[in-house]
Amino acid sequence: MAQQESVSGQAYIDLSRAGWGMTLVDTASNLFAICLDNKIQYMNKAGLCLLGADSQQDVLGHDFADFIHADYKEFLAYGLEFLAEEEDFIPLKLLKRDGSTLDVKMLINDIQVDGLDAHIVELQDITEYKRASEAVRDREHRLKSILNTVTEGIMTLSVKGIVQTFNPAAEKIFGRPAQTVIGHHIEVLMDPEYRDPYKRFLERKILNGNSPLMGKPWELVGSHEEKGRFPLEMTLTKLQVGNELIYTAVFRDITERKQSEERIRHMAHHDTLTGLPNRHLFTDRLNHAIKSAQRYNKALVLMFVDLDKFKPINDTLGHEAGDVVLQVVAKRFRKIIRESDTVARIGGDEFVILLEELDNSDAGVLVADKLLESMEEPILVSGRECRLGASIGIARFPEDAMDCDELLRCADEAMYAVKTSGRNGYKLYEPTLSVLG
Ligand code: GH3
Ligand code: MG
Repeated sequence: MAQQESVSGQAYIDLSRAGWGMTLVDTASNLFAICLDNKIQYMNKAGLCLLGADSQQDVLGHDFADFIHADYKEFLAYGLEFLAEEEDFIPLKLLKRDGSTLDVKMLINDIQVDGLDAHIVELQDITEYKRASEAVRDREHRLKSILNTVTEGIMTLSVKGIVQTFNPAAEKIFGRPAQTVIGHHIEVLMDPEYRDPYKRFLERKILNGNSPLMGKPWELVGSHEEKGRFPLEMTLTKLQVGNELIYTAVFRDITERKQSEERIRHMAHHDTLTGLPNRHLFTDRLNHAIKSAQRYNKALVLMFVDLDKFKPINDTLGHEAGDVVLQVVAKRFRKIIRESDTVARIGGDEFVILLEELDNSDAGVLVADKLLESMEEPILVSGRECRLGASIGIARFPEDAMDCDELLRCADEAMYAVKTSGRNGYKLYEPTLSVLG
């Protein structure tokens, strides 16, 4: 290549003899320009095309900065020599001849041409790349926003159970900042009492990837940093990220659900007025007690209690006053018997009492005495004193009957015998009672 004088007397480089090298540059898809003193001496076809120029004449002799958007002019003012020191591509906007702009990245290299210090400027159109990376960023942002706003806790785990990510809902659920959990085994989130068994279970049954529990919710006992243990529901799913297999855990605190389940279960088994077990739960306990008494050779006592002259309280003081009386009686009965025994309300003013684990069935008489004694104290309702007694029938296992229905029938029969013989007392069941009644 030779240095020549241009028409204006300025030095320019004759590139016509650069040979195959220039042919190569002309077939490139990036813009290549050779600049001398920041002025364009040559631009390849792709460059002209990028600028929207018709021929070399449209660009030759122009300052390279003329084709850069005004926002970057200040930056270009440093000169190509200075920018050539930058080893990486520099992102900027190309100003096309029609005034539109194009996102590009620029690399400048020094070159010696016939003893002159020139620069090769390379520009690559990054519109597509920028659009794609903006789309990725946008997708990532949206995904992050979702992860940040969902109420479910979400974390990812390595195949060894090490926590990799922990979203804000997870921080709230466990009361722990993500940075104190990430990098630790998931066991740190579990109640200390269950950590070891959970860890073994996870390693053996879940994290081998083929567990039937995969994708299904299971319940655990979590550990909140301040509030302590709480019930947790977690669903683990496998996720292949490139070459790496990880697990995604989606979880929620199920304290409220458990409490309302417990409330429903309690309501189904208890009398709402007195809070005592209802007939359903009592029958269950009685059946269970019979089996256990048979196995361990123990006695049971079943008492059927019906309040005497209860209806007049309702009639004179009102139904609500009657309710208060039932609640007070329930409390007194509950206080008399042991924690392990059962008092249930099975009808209007009917209570049944089960005494378990007895060596013999004499205990029934002692308890019946105490129950009657407890009725002696008047019950104060709306400023009025109510007095009432109770009729108690006692049936014994195994002497009187061997099953639930029969025991209840015997106790009921004995209670009825008390009613017919003057009330406010107790009777032990005897087979002749019905005949006598
Ligand atoms: P007896 O001495 O023969 O046992 O007669 P009683 O007046 O106690 O009446 P009875 O046992 O035959 O009937 C119980 C009454 O209890 C019938 C009903 O009006 C009333 N009752 C039933 N359930 C409730 C309740 O939940 N609250 C109130 N206040 N009364 C109830
Ligand atoms: Mg009654």
